[in-house]
Amino acid sequence: MTTHSAELIVDSSKIISNISHLKSLISSDSKFMFIVKSNAYGHSLKEIIKNLESYVDAFGVVRMEEAILVRKTTSKPILLMQGIYTEHEINIARENNIQVAIHKMSQFKFIGKDDNELGLWVKVNTGMNRLGLSHEELKEAYENGIISSDSVLMTHMACADNPDDPMNEMQINKFEKAFDIVERKTKRSICNSACLMNFPHLSFDWVRSGIAAYGGESKNLNLKTAMTFRAPIISIRKIRKGERVGYGGRKKASKDMRIAIVYAGYADGIPQTTIDGTKVLVNDKQAVIFGRVSMDLVSIDITNLPQVSENDLVSFWCEELPINEFSNNNGLISYELMTRISNRVKVKVI
Ligand SMILES: *Cc1c(COP(=O)(O)O)cnc(C)c1O
Repeated sequence: MTTHSAELIVDSSKIISNISHLKSLISSDSKFMFIVKSNAYGHSLKEIIKNLESYVDAFGVVRMEEAILVRKTTSKPILLMQGIYTEHEINIARENNIQVAIHKMSQFKFIGKDDNELGLWVKVNTGMNRLGLSHEELKEAYENGIISSDSVLMTHMACADNPDDPMNEMQINKFEKAFDIVERKTKRSICNSACLMNFPHLSFDWVRSGIAAYGGESKNLNLKTAMTFRAPIISIRKIRKGERVGYGGRKKASKDMRIAIVYAGYADGIPQTTIDGTKVLVNDKQAVIFGRVSMDLVSIDITNLPQVSENDLVSFWCEELPINEFSNNNGLISYELMTRISNRVKVKVI
């Protein structure tokens, strides 16, 4: 093992505080499903489940392996949000008490009467046109008697991050119509994080929140980035005016400068496309990325930070430098930054 490495510190108390803030926005009758797909958005699934289970009502995942891992750690309800595809999978779901979501008619053939006790979730397409039943299909399924008052009617919003988009109202209306089709008997779930924040009155029976709980939702200043992604400086050098740095010599010194080479690159999860000028923090002071990100290294400008020395830690995002700062400046989304951190990065969950 090398001693130097990029590292990820995940602070569960920040997620707990984000969730408590999110809960304060919605009806106290609404239950909170914490979405932990994709390794808890890169935050370490197992530890996150352990640390968060008493603060949420259920966990949502998309893959069976994740569902099973979550089941080994908690007895809370688990929803497999993208359903099941074989008889074998529904059997595993039954054995492990995992709730499943149905998003297309052919999946109903795996579902027996008793599976409703697990709480069957039925997804309707209200305009995102990705997954979900049409109104006609929903009607057919309802008439077949598979959907009951234990079921949860769900949909997913495409544009909830922009409250002015007319798509929102259209989807909300279509969801209302779907609820009529099931004679307003089922439970309802429509909100992801953006919907929860912009349309909190739609929290209904369940909200399904991921990104906001991790602090990656940009519009709310009460939410804290729960990850600190950082790496040590392994070398410092002075360069002369006119010298160029890194692959492609992309950045040229406009004056004599001092640059630091940081031990993290795109193989750790810093996008190769990161632009010059992207902010980082060194000892709580701001510096900027200077030159192209390579596989294992990235260079930053520390000309104005004479006290910075080797082994000092450089944070790419953390509570004080929100992850959205990095993603917005680079035309990316926080979800992608969180989930692309590679497994050679040392992770510590506190
Ligand atoms: C990922 C996911 C969510 C959570 O979305 P966020 O934007 O992270 O809150 C909610 N519902 C479904 C079906 C999802 O796949």
